[in-house]
Amino acid sequence: MMASGLWWAIARCDCLSSPQEKASDPNRGQRYSSKTSVAKSFTVVVKIGTSSLTKSAMGQLALSTIASLAETLCALRRAGHRVILVSSGAVGVGCARLGLRDRPRTISMKQAVAAVGQGRLMRVYDDLFTTLDQPIAQVLLTRTDLVQRSRYVNSYRTFRQLLQLGVIPIVNENDTVAIDELRFGDNDALSAQVASLVGADWLFLLTDVDRLYSADPRYHPDAQPIYVVEQIDQLEALQVQVGDRGSPWGTGGMITKIEAARIAATAGVRTVITDGQNPENIPKILAGETLGTHFVPRPGPSTARKRWIAHGLIAAGKLYLDGGAVNAICQAGRSLLAAGITEVEGEFERDDAVELLTKQGTAIGRGIVNYSHTELRKIQGHHSDEIPTLLGYDGAETVIHRDNLVVYTAE
Ligand code: GLU
Repeated sequence: MMASGLWWAIARCDCLSSPQEKASDPNRGQRYSSKTSVAKSFTVVVKIGTSSLTKSAMGQLALSTIASLAETLCALRRAGHRVILVSSGAVGVGCARLGLRDRPRTISMKQAVAAVGQGRLMRVYDDLFTTLDQPIAQVLLTRTDLVQRSRYVNSYRTFRQLLQLGVIPIVNENDTVAIDELRFGDNDALSAQVASLVGADWLFLLTDVDRLYSADPRYHPDAQPIYVVEQIDQLEALQVQVGDRGSPWGTGGMITKIEAARIAATAGVRTVITDGQNPENIPKILAGETLGTHFVPRPGPSTARKRWIAHGLIAAGKLYLDGGAVNAICQAGRSLLAAGITEVEGEFERDDAVELLTKQGTAIGRGIVNYSHTELRKIQGHHSDEIPTLLGYDGAETVIHRDNLVVYTAE
């Protein structure tokens, strides 16, 4: 399905390259200037997956890659950047340690194997970083940690303190206790959530190809490279194939990376997909070299609380809005009123988060509701004055107050 003229289309598509980036021709490997690359010190989140960390089908560690990663991250620290590493590998390394030939299938086996591997993994990291005189910390998160406001704030403060201490936090999902309904699922998503939590400037997703292609280059030699993505939805329109084939030990593929880039972009974080075998490219990219695929960030929520609403909370339902409500929210920064709601989907209670969509189904934002789904079904489409009569009691004037509402800035 790969269109042979795809790169031509991308290179000339306004929505996939910013004015600064359009000023240079990425085909010639020229430097381009991004807004963030002129600042002096960045908060940088780097995610490395199991397929980059291990080299054989048995999950043996790729020590030279890990050493090169450690050296690169230390160099970034010395250059004054704040660095967080999100590392997979607990399950892969645990399997190697236990001599298991297949990735575990049952939850309890996976959790047990991760408990074995996580310790081994941190031992290797600590040995390497200690040689380089760089303190590290282990941070294991579950999805719940970001849903509950108090735990979200606490996680944020811990990261902030670690970064102030000059430590490199090494993050993984707490696979040993995470349960399916409340999992990040993959470390691409985890890294985007961490980048949003700490308000990072850059997210680097290291993988086993040098950048995103129009199709998987391992199976399609004529796949075309993609240098800059300004609108993620454009990838779909251009029929970019993002197959989900990861390695036998990892969980990723390009789909999870693009989803991570989408989360990061709406949090105002610039995401780069680049080659995990060459971590030393990261400082080069920060210095402006056109390596990897860049996803241009949107302005992003202004406060940590709004980032929590946008990315920490899990939406329990959906509200579809008419054009007037969409304009009032997106253009005029107003609260959401019952009158503008055309459809209520899902079951949720007061104070739950819901996704806001246009009638056509485009997600425009997210907020915390003042009414349950049963109440909203009674008052949707009605003026706020009618609420006491419709419900039989007084309710809030707004369905979502603007302080509890995040609008995804138009791409
Ligand atoms: N947390 C898993 C591990 O450490 C990896 C998840 C992923 O590959 O994205 O093995």
